[in-house]
Amino acid sequence: MKPLDIAIIGYGTAGQAASLYLQRAGHRIHHVEQAPELRPVGAGFLLQPTGLSVLDELGLGDAVRRCGARIARLYGENERGRTIMDMRYADLDPRWHGLGMQRGALFEVLRRADGRAASVQVGVQVEHVDAGRGTYTTNDGREHGPFDLILVANGAHSSLRAVLREQVRRDVLYPWGAIWCLAADARGRFRHDLEQRYRRAREMCGVLPVGTLPDEDDSARKLSIYWSVRTAELDAVLAGGIGPVRAAIARLWPDAAALLEPMADLSAWRRASYRDVVLSRPFRDRVLCIGDAAHGMSPQLGQGVNMALLDAQALARALDRHDRLADALADYARVRAAHLEIYQLLSRWLTPLFQSDHDALAWWRDLLFLPMSRMPIARGESLKILTGTKRGWFGRLLDAANRAG
Ligand SMILES: Cc1cc2nc3c(=O)[nH]c(=O)nc-3n(C[C@H](O)[C@H](O)[C@H](O)COP(=O)(O)OP(=O)(O)OC[C@H]3O[C@@H](n4cnc5c(N)ncnc54)[C@H](O)[C@@H]3O)c2cc1C
Repeated sequence: MKPLDIAIIGYGTAGQAASLYLQRAGHRIHHVEQAPELRPVGAGFLLQPTGLSVLDELGLGDAVRRCGARIARLYGENERGRTIMDMRYADLDPRWHGLGMQRGALFEVLRRADGRAASVQVGVQVEHVDAGRGTYTTNDGREHGPFDLILVANGAHSSLRAVLREQVRRDVLYPWGAIWCLAADARGRFRHDLEQRYRRAREMCGVLPVGTLPDEDDSARKLSIYWSVRTAELDAVLAGGIGPVRAAIARLWPDAAALLEPMADLSAWRRASYRDVVLSRPFRDRVLCIGDAAHGMSPQLGQGVNMALLDAQALARALDRHDRLADALADYARVRAAHLEIYQLLSRWLTPLFQSDHDALAWWRDLLFLPMSRMPIARGESLKILTGTKRGWFGRLLDAANRAG
């Protein structure tokens, strides 16, 4: 396709990765971000073999491997010490692992690779998008464009996806969110596992090793701690001080509470709420939604960043394959839907098992989750879900499966 004028709204993972791919394909990028300066948003996260394969293709795999923490296993236990979840990447493929990362580390690796990062317009909030004319309007009332294509990459809470009108099939706030922070692991207790503890589905605490920022040495490595909180109570919990949070975590998981000992207050903690977003088609005329703006989901399956990276890769490939924009966007939508649909469904089904007031669900989870995930076929399928390579009910995202080793 001839070089296009493309506007990207949002400098999160989806916007950053799309910009890199599309610049490299020769398109002209005009990038805007509402924050007053370019900076990372969001909690530490788990990069899966799928996301790693995209970063490898971009030539950034070694940079993220240098600062991320290699994760071999996902392990969860209830308050009585009963194992609920125990999944190892190597059981699917001995070469595979996850990579726990600080949000700032991935942000910085992508920013440094972005030759046009300095020209991103910051402090610009987009308020309206016109799909037919390919223009967008900012909070100062000015209209920009027309562009051949506008990528709406402004996250799960995007109001801009309303431009897709009836194509927005679902857009719901989850009743539970989380508070999270980064902490040092002074005692070296947490190394290679993402660990979680649960009391029914009402309490969940997780600890994920997330490594360092790009220029830090190994002694600076961090953990990401998260604590499940009802969305409506997020602000109240943060305002309530560290005492109640520390006490609740200590009752569930003393090892995690020990990480909070050096903290005098909750100033390092942030809130996170999530949405369940489903689009019947992610584009209309000259506008395409990517990343969480197109398929926000609960982070229970740890896939959002990886999905954002796969979106960027799929878009670049679709534009490369077609001469007409409409054909490329239809191709993109088809390719991504085949991977996304199952994750949207599973995320909606599984989240209440870990974050809800449904005690009966949690009882069944404690009884059945581990034995079911060890049954012959289910074992392989749950490992595919974990690694981000599940495609449809029994398929596999072969590209990532082949490359991620
Ligand atoms: C607690 C938590 C844990 C998570 N853990 C994982 C994990 O382990 N693994 C994983 O893969 N994913 C995880 N995720 C999901 C992941 O964070 C998201 O899927 C990912 O950040 C989506 O990237 P994005 O670029 O689409 O959106 P975002 O990262 O939200 O970026 C959107 C950008 O758009 C900007 N913006 C917003 N509105 C406007 C506007 N109107 N005009 C201009 N700019 C605007 C924002 O400032 C922001 O920079 C987690 C999420 C949460 C909340």
